[in-house]
Amino acid sequence: MTIEESYQDIVNKIDAACQRVDRNPAEVEIIAVTKYVSVATAQAAINVGVKHLAENRLEGFSKKYEEIGNEVNWHFVGTLQSRKVKEIINQVDYLHSLDRTSLAKEVNKRTEQTVRCFVQVNTSGEDSKHGLSPENVSEFIDSLEKFPKIQVVGLMTMAPFDAGEEDIRKYFKRLKGLRDKIKSNNWEHAPCEYLSMGMSNDFEIAVEEGATHVRIGTSLVGNEAE
Ligand SMILES: *Cc1c(COP(=O)(O)O)cnc(C)c1O
Repeated sequence: MTIEESYQDIVNKIDAACQRVDRNPAEVEIIAVTKYVSVATAQAAINVGVKHLAENRLEGFSKKYEEIGNEVNWHFVGTLQSRKVKEIINQVDYLHSLDRTSLAKEVNKRTEQTVRCFVQVNTSGEDSKHGLSPENVSEFIDSLEKFPKIQVVGLMTMAPFDAGEEDIRKYFKRLKGLRDKIKSNNWEHAPCEYLSMGMSNDFEIAVEEGATHVRIGTSLVGNEAE
């Protein structure tokens, strides 16, 4: 499939998933995760209509950003070491991996403008995954009020790669439940409207469960490292 065909296929699947649960497809943003592909391939995705790009490592992010610049929205979806924050934070439109106070403090200190952040939640309890335990999310977000440049726009999760559909759905429902609870506080620093969940393998389930941002790599732009 060409990128154009892959993109259309994903758009169609999102439309169908929305129809099944009575959602408006305009509520779902497609983020192309370009970590395994070249700048040229990322550019090809932009040419077929992608408006959001994501990287999960500092080096990859900086390289793509330098070449492509501000014509798209930039998402950072990987673990970010606090000491590296200053190198990229002013290029990041959305940070998807906020999961600790030390990182929030450093982001707040180094950014020149408000940073839109997703708080990452470990909804499955799997050891290898980053993110806060669900029971700690509310208190953590409440505590972020002291960092005026951090705005919590939503929650993010990753389902384990080998989980079955039933479990994946359960983790996504868990994230939505948390989002609804936090949103209902009407905290000024944490509107928490969005749900960043769903990747190549599970984005249709994620959309059925309320995802507003799906992060798609392999099925959209491929994997040139393979
Ligand atoms: C790599 C990655 C994705 C995309 O994964 P695919 O399975 O290739 O779609 C999404 N989110 C995060 C955080 C990633 O690291």
